Amino acid sequence: MSKPTVSIVKCEKPAGNEKFIKGKYERDPGDIVKIKAAVAKAVEAAIGSPDAIIKEGQTVLIKPNLAFQAPPESFAVVDPRTVEAVVAYFKENSKAGKVVVGDNPSLGMHVGRAKPAFEVSGMEEAARLGGADDVIYFDECEVVEVDIPGAKIFKKAAVFKPFLDADVVINLPKMKVHIAGVVTLGLKNWNGIIPNVHPSDQQQGAHRIDLGQKMADLYKVRKADLTIVDGIIGMEGQGPHAGDPIEMNLIIAGQDTCAVDAVTCSVMGFDPIEIPAVRCAGTEGLGETKIKNINIVGEKLSDVAVHFRRPNDNPMGMYRGMDCYFQQTCGGCYVNVRGALDSFANSGIDVQEFLNKNGEIVVVAGGVPDFDPQCAKGKNLFVCGDCWKLFPSKPKIEEAQKLAKTVTLYPGCAPVYIFSKLNTDLQEMAKK
Ligand code: SF4
Repeated sequence: MSKPTVSIVKCEKPAGNEKFIKGKYERDPGDIVKIKAAVAKAVEAAIGSPDAIIKEGQTVLIKPNLAFQAPPESFAVVDPRTVEAVVAYFKENSKAGKVVVGDNPSLGMHVGRAKPAFEVSGMEEAARLGGADDVIYFDECEVVEVDIPGAKIFKKAAVFKPFLDADVVINLPKMKVHIAGVVTLGLKNWNGIIPNVHPSDQQQGAHRIDLGQKMADLYKVRKADLTIVDGIIGMEGQGPHAGDPIEMNLIIAGQDTCAVDAVTCSVMGFDPIEIPAVRCAGTEGLGETKIKNINIVGEKLSDVAVHFRRPNDNPMGMYRGMDCYFQQTCGGCYVNVRGALDSFANSGIDVQEFLNKNGEIVVVAGGVPDFDPQCAKGKNLFVCGDCWKLFPSKPKIEEAQKLAKTVTLYPGCAPVYIFSKLNTDLQEMAKK
């Protein structure tokens, strides 16, 4: 079997990077030219020409990582300059009938809707400037219930119709770390093909501890025809909500999403086996994830690889007065509570002042055999999920609810919702 090709291309440093990293995004036409040249080089090194995947008159869907409602300066979303460059490249160099951009964000800080997320991220304007024939807000589109053959967990999914209908799908993730997925690249980008408020809870449910397997399953719905990673400015640290920018000036491309993810996470200083989605997809043979079996062209991996700071997922002991009690708790609530606390602390609110004004907080989820209900006395108690009711420690958590100053319950088993609500509720408390 021939090795899949993945290209790594160094982009000439965009002039706007410096200001962008300091917190101010500005479009410079010269930067689009530079990024488009790098995209062209990466695509052509990986597949020869767009004609290899796009036939005359076909509809091409570019699926960026819209993540959640966040501005470009969050570095959580694909760089608008890369969106514009990729759209313009395929408009100018392919025989596509239409080039469209579409996605659906996750819940994020607010319940995510695609239209505002496209606008706030700068991708709406970027797609239009690049010449996109349309920007598709997936959450305003029909969904189709599909069976996923060969899926281990995610056996049925409701999938947005434009994703299924497109002749060609180009996967456009960002090079960034993720507190629940370790990194979020091409495989994880398929989280946007399903609704975030569907009755099945599927997008929220996907963020439990089996996130990697679910993303591997979701990838079986339909593989990307090409994956292009926006590695102009990556994100390291407490991503995807509270990470820091890291300048890379790279575009990475290939037809095998698994291989592209394996190479990209290696550029970020991870072993592909550390990334659950890559590991699960590789083990199932959905693509190549072993670096020695990938034909890497362009830059040498060892010349561009750096060490991205890893996200830390443990919420305990982060902030004095914000105590978390987790023992028999799955990774769903565990990492998302940490994500919520990071986002809250990163939002500009003075945590100490908040605690002085509102009192201390206690967060609990799952079974906590050693839990002492007195720890919640007179404090603001947040009880995450429903599974705590299934553990022998249930009476202790019920007792804590009687002793607490305020009690906030997050029912269900929807960790992304818990992330969003805990962060939002703390911010609301701070405003009072
Ligand atoms: S409610 Fe329980 S099972 Fe569900 S994500 Fe939270 S800890 Fe895990």
